[in-house]
Amino acid sequence: MLLLGIESSCDETGVALVESHGDALPLLRSHALHSQIAMHQAYGGVVPELASRDHIRRVLPLTEAVMAEAGRSLAEIDVVAYTRGPGLAGALLVGAGVACALGVALGKPVLGVHHLEGHLLSPFLSSDPPEFPFVALLVSGGHTQLMRVDGVGRYELLGETIDDAAGEAFDKSAKLMGLPYPGGPWLAKLAEGGDAAAFKLPRPLLHSGDLDFSFAGLKTAVLTQAKKLGDQLEARKADLAASTQAAIVEVLLKKSLAALDQTGLKRLVVAGGVGANKNLREQLNAACAKRKVRVHYPELHLCTDNGAMIAMAAAMRLQSGLSQASERYAFDVKPRWPMASLMTPETPLPE
Ligand code: ATP
Ligand code: MG
Ligand code: FE
Repeated sequence: MLLLGIESSCDETGVALVESHGDALPLLRSHALHSQIAMHQAYGGVVPELASRDHIRRVLPLTEAVMAEAGRSLAEIDVVAYTRGPGLAGALLVGAGVACALGVALGKPVLGVHHLEGHLLSPFLSSDPPEFPFVALLVSGGHTQLMRVDGVGRYELLGETIDDAAGEAFDKSAKLMGLPYPGGPWLAKLAEGGDAAAFKLPRPLLHSGDLDFSFAGLKTAVLTQAKKLGDQLEARKADLAASTQAAIVEVLLKKSLAALDQTGLKRLVVAGGVGANKNLREQLNAACAKRKVRVHYPELHLCTDNGAMIAMAAAMRLQSGLSQASERYAFDVKPRWPMASLMTPETPLPE
């Protein structure tokens, strides 16, 4: 079965082809991505209207590119999958609209996918895919969650952020330091030349005894520190970046280890954009090696948004029998869509 996946929830247009046979792990055949980062950078963040308009421009050329790269024709597609939510409504509507139009034109069913389930299952696209069950640390731009994952659609939330996401903590701190948007990778790069012990920053909820996170206070502490430095900020930026990254990584590391302890599981899966962070990977790898825990990540280029994870999540949901692709093309999108609702039967789309 050949699945086309379309991602357009925020500022990346991603299209990919995944092939699935029986119970075997589906395989990525081709993928293409256009990031709008350069376009939004002048505004310091994503401008929703510009994002939607750019998705419209990119999605069909990217679709042609993935078909050509895989050497397949549109007629060979069996299912068209798209990100149904959560995300920016206008941006989501582009992917959903194009997916459903393709479905109608090709006479093939469509399937709306949860963006975070895409992130969560993206490590299955790597050369070292995990096996169920595992603890998942989902760290993206808008979400920070620890989950127990027993199978596709069998997700138990263990803890989550009560305010900002880890990605937001990276991005907002980076912005305070005058770094471009999105600041996570820039801050990480700057931190390489800095002293992580230079500034004492809070590790919010580190000893809370539960698996929840809080990063809003950290951002305030970084702001206070930056103000205190005043003219010296420029000279001490690398140290402040390293100290900020250390605080975020320590909390993510300790809470992940606590989740492993609590569940007794010996496997950790990291997903989402912050999962690309080198320091986080090094620390998780070292701590997990000591505890004989296997850690799995998505390929670096599939940590942030992409179409491959959407096609993969669709393929795995179809394999598990949890979802069925549908020939009802009256689509809707879900800008807010709690992951917990994936456990309940899907709400039927309007006829
Ligand atoms: P969500 O998936 O929650 O809706 P999103 O799609 O914007 O949000 P992702 O695409 O998963 O999030 O990830 C983007 C985030 O990852 C940004 O906050 C970005 O700064 C962060 N990020 C990417 N690379 C790195 C890195 N190397 N170090 C730290 N953060 C990073
Ligand atoms: Mg993005
Ligand atoms: Fe995302």
